Amino acid sequence: MAIASINPANGTTLKTFEPLTAERLEEKLALAAKAFRDFQKMPVEHRALCMRKLATLLEEDVEDLAQTMMQETGKPLRVGREEIEKCATCCRYYAENAARILAPEAIPTGTGKSYVRWDPLGVLLAVMPWNYPFWQVFRFLAPALMAGNVGLLKHAPSVPQCAFAIETLTRRAGFPRGTFQTLFLETEQVEGVIGDPRVAAVTVTGSQRAGRSIAAKAGACLKKTVLELGGSDPFVVMPTGDLATAVEVAAQSRTVNSGQSCIAAKRFIVHASIYEEFVRRFARKMGSLKVGDPSREDTEVGPLASAQGLAEVERQVADAIAAGGRIVVGGGKLLSRGFYFEPTVIVDVPRTSAVYREEIFGPVAMVFSARDTSEAIQIANDTDFGLGASVWTSDPAEQQRMVSEIEAGMVFLNAMVASDPRMPFGGVKGSGYGRELSAAGMREFLNAKSVVVA
Ligand code: NAP
Repeated sequence: MAIASINPANGTTLKTFEPLTAERLEEKLALAAKAFRDFQKMPVEHRALCMRKLATLLEEDVEDLAQTMMQETGKPLRVGREEIEKCATCCRYYAENAARILAPEAIPTGTGKSYVRWDPLGVLLAVMPWNYPFWQVFRFLAPALMAGNVGLLKHAPSVPQCAFAIETLTRRAGFPRGTFQTLFLETEQVEGVIGDPRVAAVTVTGSQRAGRSIAAKAGACLKKTVLELGGSDPFVVMPTGDLATAVEVAAQSRTVNSGQSCIAAKRFIVHASIYEEFVRRFARKMGSLKVGDPSREDTEVGPLASAQGLAEVERQVADAIAAGGRIVVGGGKLLSRGFYFEPTVIVDVPRTSAVYREEIFGPVAMVFSARDTSEAIQIANDTDFGLGASVWTSDPAEQQRMVSEIEAGMVFLNAMVASDPRMPFGGVKGSGYGRELSAAGMREFLNAKSVVVA
């Protein structure tokens, strides 16, 4: 895929970029390795000053940055601003907490003095997707740089201007030259970077296909990976849950970022006693959402980010209908320019069908009925993925069962799944491994060095 900014609201190509030549790539790798030698020694307080400055710059430039995201991904401006503000929050979280997370831990062993110290690993490669082009990068960048690691970003080919803006912001914030660089790479060039001895580890946010391929290469080189892959998150509604709030949040969670979020609720599992009522209210809510121009402040669902994304969602809806599914609301693309798809609710999709097992990356919800708690858990777990789960119940015993038996990296009771810099973020099963955010995320790319002084 060419490295290009294409406006999803009208399909216009705004700008194209050339991938790095072998010589330029070599220069950048050499610069990263050189930068690491000094940067790892920079006091954490000094790094925190740059990180706080980065947060301030994000806030100052919020309008421009939201515009850039809108032009490259179709993200509504209002949603883009929230994303930039969240990045600033993440920078401040790590500026404030890195010293605590990195502090050596004394461990009494009976032999003199024993402790664990946390050392940076070196140059880290981040392979990132387009759906949250700032947030995905910042949740890697903030802990990595605060720990003294150095970052290389291979961003998705559709968001080159976002990628470039992030590198520029880090330089303006005072991070030394080479500590964070964007690499315009074609897919085939990534393997060489993973294999380069100057690169210590790799983090990937993206599809299972990308995760498999990159982890295989990194594994062959004995390099650590963190994989944040797809999700088909269950949203479970039980009779004691607050139905009115659950319906509102269900629609919000399915259409967050125009339906293109790994932690968007994708499969709605509802107790049989409230199933009909839920479907009726949920369809009404989904049908009432305002789809349209992402530059309008009242737009709730913008276009999908690419023509390919739109074609894939259309194919999945057609497959669901062919398998026996029934459209309750929506079901088609909107006949305007741009890559718009209607918020859609489908019922009766057989659990034996292929599409039932797929992640739908657009505003399309599949709803299933469950006769009791056990069946709700069984359907929730009947997926290759295991990222997040949202469960609506006020029964304490049922809450306990859901929390302990649902196979996911995150379970939210009576709330929408969302990332928070203070909490570990990540999945199990086919959603990947490792964590981002919080102390757990920062430590993924640290060497827990055991020191014993006899
Ligand atoms: P994608 O096609 O896998 O692309 C993600 C990134 O990986 C891009 O930079 C892509 O660049 C690169 N890539 C893909 N295959 C590669 C390979 N073989 N070698 C090297 N790089 C490769 O994913 P997407 O369609 O853009 O993003 C949507 C997916 O990301 C969904 O499944 C979504 O759930 C997941 N996601 C997960 C999280 C999470 O935190 N768990 C967050 C957001 C999104 P090229 O296109 O240039 O190859």
